[in-house]
Amino acid sequence: MKAAVYHGIRDVRVQDVPMPSAGPGEVVLRVLLCAVCGTDKRIFTHGQKNVVPPAITGHEIVGTVHQIGPGVDGGLRAGQKVIVATVVGCGRCVYCRRKQYNLCDSFTALGYDYAGGFAEYVKIPANAVAQGNVIAIPGSMSPERAALVEPLSCCLNGQEYLGAQPGDRAVILGAGPIGLMHAGILKARGCQPVIVADMVDERLAYVREFGLGQPVNTAGAEAVERILEAGGGEKFDVAVTACAVKAAQADALRLVRKKGRISFFAGIPKDDPILAIDTNHIHYSEISIFGCFASNLQHYHQALEMVSRDDLPWDRFVTHKFKLDDILRAYAVVEAGQGIKTVIDCQ
Ligand SMILES: [Zn+2]
Ligand SMILES: [Zn+2]
Repeated sequence: MKAAVYHGIRDVRVQDVPMPSAGPGEVVLRVLLCAVCGTDKRIFTHGQKNVVPPAITGHEIVGTVHQIGPGVDGGLRAGQKVIVATVVGCGRCVYCRRKQYNLCDSFTALGYDYAGGFAEYVKIPANAVAQGNVIAIPGSMSPERAALVEPLSCCLNGQEYLGAQPGDRAVILGAGPIGLMHAGILKARGCQPVIVADMVDERLAYVREFGLGQPVNTAGAEAVERILEAGGGEKFDVAVTACAVKAAQADALRLVRKKGRISFFAGIPKDDPILAIDTNHIHYSEISIFGCFASNLQHYHQALEMVSRDDLPWDRFVTHKFKLDDILRAYAVVEAGQGIKTVIDCQ
């Protein structure tokens, strides 16, 4: 079969690799489509510890069940359309016992430790199948929509902590695919206004085009002042940092009002993660800051339900689509920050 094989930083080659076959407990999927995540791009440009070349990456997988190994139960049948949850817990640690697989001390992940979806077929290991990571979706759902479930599930994990209420004032820092999804969720939950700040007009154009909130360009300005001004001078109840920028975390702390809730959704570069904060401000103003990492199975099911509705413009999120042979062009688009979601058509 054909696969995009990661051989090292900036070295991905589309080549023939052995076709996987399903052993006991395993399932092989025919990949319909695999979306390119920010982390796929980061692996391509910087490498990552749990991706040891040669490796096949890609975790935002939509496929059909091609082969079911012996001993698999869970109602899967050949030809069924499915998506795949990324994180696989060890099954033994305290977090796995609570079914918080994303927090497992020794989790593994599809598209990182195991071969991923930038290939014609992908094998789902037995531990992932047993954990319930192969999730059936309606046959009528487009692969493009289904590919949004994984990133949306991560956003829903972050939103669980924020507990946004109708009428809450919301601000999102970063207008990439994740920022737009957060805007969609906050809009759907009745927040008003929903301000999305970024420094790139092309990205902000999608905010307006998709009707997801009020775009604010903070390029060349003091971001906090520009955002407050755009929001009529009042501070915000909820803030989400959806860009890998430390300054955005500091800005979020200045943007929320008393009882404000902040999601530090995006991680920031590992070499500079220390932020000085006024803890008295957190104390007296009762501010909460929440972390968020990946997602759990229940978030996939919530996200699946959300993308099957039409109240948000899901069909417009995929702005770029490339054949597997052209995956380098896809990486270039993502690296340049163009469009919203870029996907690889693996058929
Ligand atoms: Zn992802
Ligand atoms: Zn565990």
